Amino acid sequence: MSKISFKSFNNTNPLFIAGPCSIESYDQMKTLLSTQNFPSFIRGGIYKMRSNPDSFQGLGDKAIEIISELKKEFTFNFVTEISDPRQIEKLGPITDVYQVGTRNMYNYELLKELNTHDTPVILKRGFSATVKEWVGAAGYLSNLGVDRILLCERGIRTFETTQRNTLDIGSIIYLKQNTNFKVIVDPSHALGVARMVTPATKAAIAAGSDGAIIEVHPNPEMAMSDGAQTINIQDFLSLQKEFLPNL
Ligand code: PEP
Ligand code: MN
Repeated sequence: MSKISFKSFNNTNPLFIAGPCSIESYDQMKTLLSTQNFPSFIRGGIYKMRSNPDSFQGLGDKAIEIISELKKEFTFNFVTEISDPRQIEKLGPITDVYQVGTRNMYNYELLKELNTHDTPVILKRGFSATVKEWVGAAGYLSNLGVDRILLCERGIRTFETTQRNTLDIGSIIYLKQNTNFKVIVDPSHALGVARMVTPATKAAIAAGSDGAIIEVHPNPEMAMSDGAQTINIQDFLSLQKEFLPNL
């Protein structure tokens, strides 16, 4: 039975999950893990779901080796996206929290499979999904129980073009008022712009979000994916300190 529960996190003690869009190297991940006060929940893409087949697809097996090595040296909860039940064999041994991405919120066969394991799941909102469809998808994970599911608002597609997506703060308020689910925000994919990440996180937590998953890279300009929306370690730690001053 997985020991991870998100029960203790809430908008006065928010959960922070941080790390790069994609795992790129051992050194990149080691730098984050060696940083004092970096969260113990670390994200990193292994099999990337890119909109274009020519874009970087993630390191795959090589990234699995990197995380296995680092797990021998550091204690952390590894969060990564799963897009196909066939990935469980390789991802299972190193993954503490599965992330179901926006493109897979409607992948009910994947959700049914994850419902037979005890690994907690972050269920991102489909970029065109209504809140009711999103809550419906979460119903496929009922065996996990509300303490092992995080609903992640990551922005939806609208007519607006100044941001990558439109951050729906209303969905966070609605979910907190009408369901028992824990909710987090992904300001990185919602806004798509690094300098909008901090204010968007604050807005979401003010609206009731129980935490945030944020793209952080030791050197965002060099990131192999999503660099424009990725913040550096220092900016992340400053943001985190505003919510967790006693760290
Ligand atoms: C990600 O977290 O790297 C990602 C691809 O997110 P989303 O599925 O929300 O686009
Ligand atoms: Mn990304």
